[in-house]
Amino acid sequence: MYDHRKLGRELGIFDTDPLIGAGLPYLLPDGAAIRHALEEYIREVERRAGYQHVYSPVLAKRELYDISGHWSHYRDGMYPPMDIGGEQVVLRPSLCPHHALIYRSRTRSYRDLPLRMAELGGQYRSELSGVLGGLTRVRAIHLNDAHIFCAPDQVAAEAAAALGLIRQAYRDLGIEPARYRLSLASHDGKYVGGREMWDRAAALLEQVLADAGVPYDAEEGEAAFYGPKIDVQIADSAEREASMSTVQIDFYLPERFGLEYVGADGARHRPVMVHRSVIGSAERAIAHLIDVHGGAFPAWLAPVQVAVLPVGEAQGREADALARRAVDAGLRAVVAGPESGSLGARIHAGRLVPYQAVIGAREAAADEVALRLRDGRRLSAMPAGEALARIGERVAARGTELWQADPVGCLAAPG
Ligand SMILES: [Zn+2]
Repeated sequence: MYDHRKLGRELGIFDTDPLIGAGLPYLLPDGAAIRHALEEYIREVERRAGYQHVYSPVLAKRELYDISGHWSHYRDGMYPPMDIGGEQVVLRPSLCPHHALIYRSRTRSYRDLPLRMAELGGQYRSELSGVLGGLTRVRAIHLNDAHIFCAPDQVAAEAAAALGLIRQAYRDLGIEPARYRLSLASHDGKYVGGREMWDRAAALLEQVLADAGVPYDAEEGEAAFYGPKIDVQIADSAEREASMSTVQIDFYLPERFGLEYVGADGARHRPVMVHRSVIGSAERAIAHLIDVHGGAFPAWLAPVQVAVLPVGEAQGREADALARRAVDAGLRAVVAGPESGSLGARIHAGRLVPYQAVIGAREAAADEVALRLRDGRRLSAMPAGEALARIGERVAARGTELWQADPVGCLAAPG
């Protein structure tokens, strides 16, 4: 494993500036390319799974967090209120209260449920500067968040489906959980909303884990203040553990916000909230991808996916044209020409790039390229259009395989 705090800076993925402050890293273009790819992925996965996306502001009146309970249970992690014209406004510590209000803004019927509301949004944590470092302990967090408002008999299926999205995402990202944790309340009497709610939620989550067949550890004292949760734990190079993904069952916030839906019987009922994050925050996800992959990211996440290498000056025009076609096809491509060194030196410099497309005199004349894959495979020259189509197909598949020997339907597709 690598240490993202060092390697992420060396690779030009993120950096910090004392004038911006501790715990407030910024992403350089290569880091932004990774985050963009992650966001596109998660939006697509969520769209297919029936989620609807919203945008909500990162600030709200303090009063909102009095209602949600964050102000009394989580104030140490929140920034002090800002006084604006006699009103107290705070940076939000989580997205849940905003989403509860969006749910409440319309009359909801049982036919609208499960209502899956997703957002890639900012939330803020007042961490002390001593504990901050790299992308993992930060003061501004961009979370892949969602809240599923559902009827009580839909909760187990929704939580199970969320766990399924998490497991698929880990396969696509080429990462593995360190372990699954069932995070329960501490047994010192700190149950908001009553013990019975907590026991029901914990039993449902236990069932979800059992049905998924994943081994897990149950631990007391790790729950959210409003309910128990499944945490998917990851470990870094120093074997420090952190929660990346989570599924939570919450009977409490729907009570606090008076959420309702009209049932088939015409009466008003209370929905349950399932809070879930598939890839956690953009910051932690990028940190962990660096920890696991070094700079050799799966092709769909790689900041540069195709490096075009003309053997000599004479192939410069063909190299530029190929890079242009790659960019037009939606790929991230650059040309590394002879001005940046010998062919061997350029191949070495681009060793983290998943695909290197070498163009010599013969390839230039025939509109072909000789592909070198990051894993060392060297493919014989093929038509440039076919090479780009097959790379595009691998990138669109968003997996970890760099090449498929005989992709279905690919050769029949127009180059
Ligand atoms: Zn939430």
